[in-house]
Amino acid sequence: MKRKTFHNAAGYKRVLWGLQAVFIALPAVLFLTGCAGNPGGRTEPYSETFFAMDTYMTFTIYGAKAEDSLKQAEDRIRELEGLWSVTDTKSDIYAVNHSGGKPVAVDGETEELLSFALEMAEETGGALEPTIYPVLAAWGFTTGENRVPDREEIEELLNRVDYTGVRWDGGSIVLEEGSMLDLGAVGKGYAGDQVIQLLKENGVTSALLDIGGNIQAVGAKPDGSSWRVGLKDPFSGGVLGVIQVADEAVVTSGSYERYFTGKDGKRYGHIIDPATGYPVDNGLASVSVIASEGKLCDALSTALFVMGLEDAERYWRQNQGFDMILVTVDEGIFVTEGVKDRFSLQSEYQDMTVNVIEK
Ligand code: ADP
Ligand code: MG
Repeated sequence: MKRKTFHNAAGYKRVLWGLQAVFIALPAVLFLTGCAGNPGGRTEPYSETFFAMDTYMTFTIYGAKAEDSLKQAEDRIRELEGLWSVTDTKSDIYAVNHSGGKPVAVDGETEELLSFALEMAEETGGALEPTIYPVLAAWGFTTGENRVPDREEIEELLNRVDYTGVRWDGGSIVLEEGSMLDLGAVGKGYAGDQVIQLLKENGVTSALLDIGGNIQAVGAKPDGSSWRVGLKDPFSGGVLGVIQVADEAVVTSGSYERYFTGKDGKRYGHIIDPATGYPVDNGLASVSVIASEGKLCDALSTALFVMGLEDAERYWRQNQGFDMILVTVDEGIFVTEGVKDRFSLQSEYQDMTVNVIEK
């Protein structure tokens, strides 16, 4: 395993342990820094925040068509939400999940998203598991009434989890009875790509989308400089580090946004390891993936979080085409070499070690 270290200040170990509480507090979200102003451009951005797909989204768009484009973008998001919601009784996914094993004709975009999710499930050895829903529901993540199921219940439910059991019948999806789809781990990334396409068709050359912590950029800032996307520390409200991006997506997965504390005092997060049926507990605090497509970032951030540090490193070496930043509960920060020169720690975190993952 090749790792190089920089920012290796003397006595960092003490500082690192001192910061452990901060690490544990790291959220699964990225947020934007320094993007509100528009020093070099001619116009002010148009920005709006709305709630969709179970999360807050903030779109910031520059240029003459900004306001119109934003309305269209929001409509587009709601259209896709209407197809993929697990709770909306009119959605494609709801119909498939309640089909009793019968074929269900779905929209072409649902077919495309599901095909992508199944492909990524295969690629990641099942770490991404689009049929995890029954297990997720048992833990109460779908209702908010969280509980720790007993082992037998989990074993029983895992029999219903298997992405290889999803079949196609022409444009219809056939799901075995008892099996259920949840495209929550990839839908927002795919939706972001669709919005970006729409914006580009409208002639927008500079925009930033915050889709519930998924950040997707059209171009650079109007003055030509990169967008600065920050890794957030929720308790201090500070920013751990900043990554510079242009025309790319940055998507983070972790268990620090959506979790509950069991009667046993343990924290249980909303990303499930399909191998065990239990929430991921492998020492990773968060995984951020940086690549040109949002859907790839979204699928990989979830899957790599399930895999853990070593397997994630291995996956990156074998696959390429993306960069990543991993934060562990107790070890530190690991970044792939393509990120090294455009990721910087904020001043309060300067003493922490950033380990570079090389090919
Ligand atoms: P978020 O949606 O919180 O930004 P993710 O993209 O990582 O984060 O998606 C997490 C969601 O994906 C969970 O809320 C759940 O709906 C679903 N999920 C949980 N575990 C898995 C898994 N192993 N494979 C696929 N989807 C998962
Ligand atoms: Mg994801």
